[in-house]
Amino acid sequence: MENTLERIYADAMEALASATDVDAVSDLSTQYLGRKGHITHYLRNISSLPVAERPQAGKRANEIKRSLEGEFKNTLTRLANVSKTATDRIDVSLPGRVPEKGSLHPITQITNHICNIFSQMGFDVVEGPEVETDYYNFEALNIPKNHPARDMQDTFYVSDNVVLRTHTSPTQPRVMEKQPPPVRIIAPGKVYRCDSDLTHTPMFHQVEGLLVDRHVSFADLKGTLTAFIHQMFDDQTTLRFRPSFFPFTEPSAEVDIRCVICRGKGCRVCSQTGWLEILGSGMVHPAVFENIGYDTNRYTGFAFGMGVERIAMLKYGIDDIRRYFDNDYRFLSQF
Ligand SMILES: [Zn+2]
Repeated sequence: MENTLERIYADAMEALASATDVDAVSDLSTQYLGRKGHITHYLRNISSLPVAERPQAGKRANEIKRSLEGEFKNTLTRLANVSKTATDRIDVSLPGRVPEKGSLHPITQITNHICNIFSQMGFDVVEGPEVETDYYNFEALNIPKNHPARDMQDTFYVSDNVVLRTHTSPTQPRVMEKQPPPVRIIAPGKVYRCDSDLTHTPMFHQVEGLLVDRHVSFADLKGTLTAFIHQMFDDQTTLRFRPSFFPFTEPSAEVDIRCVICRGKGCRVCSQTGWLEILGSGMVHPAVFENIGYDTNRYTGFAFGMGVERIAMLKYGIDDIRRYFDNDYRFLSQF
């Protein structure tokens, strides 16, 4: 009988030595120490032994039971620690997490591109306030109160005499009143109008240009804008000047470029005309110079203004201006 007990003990220790996970050890514990386990069975049947052997057998069986309980417990703890260490271990072979890279907004990129092109031609980049007085936004630019040109723009009024600027043109008188000619500036910035649809947003970006000097002619304007368009798009892009009207230039011209999508054949973007309106321009109106105090007999100049979103839409082939302001990372990360 004692041999049976020692064999059970030896079998249990051997099985435990080859158990490699927590579940296997739990199963062994049930198999040997559970209610129907080998040791329990042995203890229950101790009464069948000869009376003289019972005390010794009972004592040894309990010793083995306690010993196995301790061994199972230690093995469980050890295996739990091993699996925890395995989880915590740093796997140096895993691919690293690449941080998301930020980039400049496409509108900022196009604005910088425009400014760079003009900087190379000798223009200085200047900025003006977005909250502007009625004087600089309208009056100094030959748009007096009640002038019909004010109907052309739906203005956000902050108070009777303060507006959110409707164009970047107020930068012109602000710069001219601080310095005598020659003036050669490019002024990028945000402008505001009550307007919202596929091609208009209440806030958008403009770049304004102004050049004042002696003997400046319309030919200089054409040459400057042609050089700009060739650098912005490509040197196959042709320009067309159409007579137009702005209160602060005379004569005034809208500038179209040959459609960059269909190359003039006619498509949806150019409404089948083959041409795309891209900027407004003209020779500075003498009334603007008189407001500043420039001598109109000595100086002439030209000015132009363009919508940055419009140029970005044409350059990237985007047909909804609002995409630029949705802040959709998937859209913005393409640029
Ligand atoms: Zn076209």
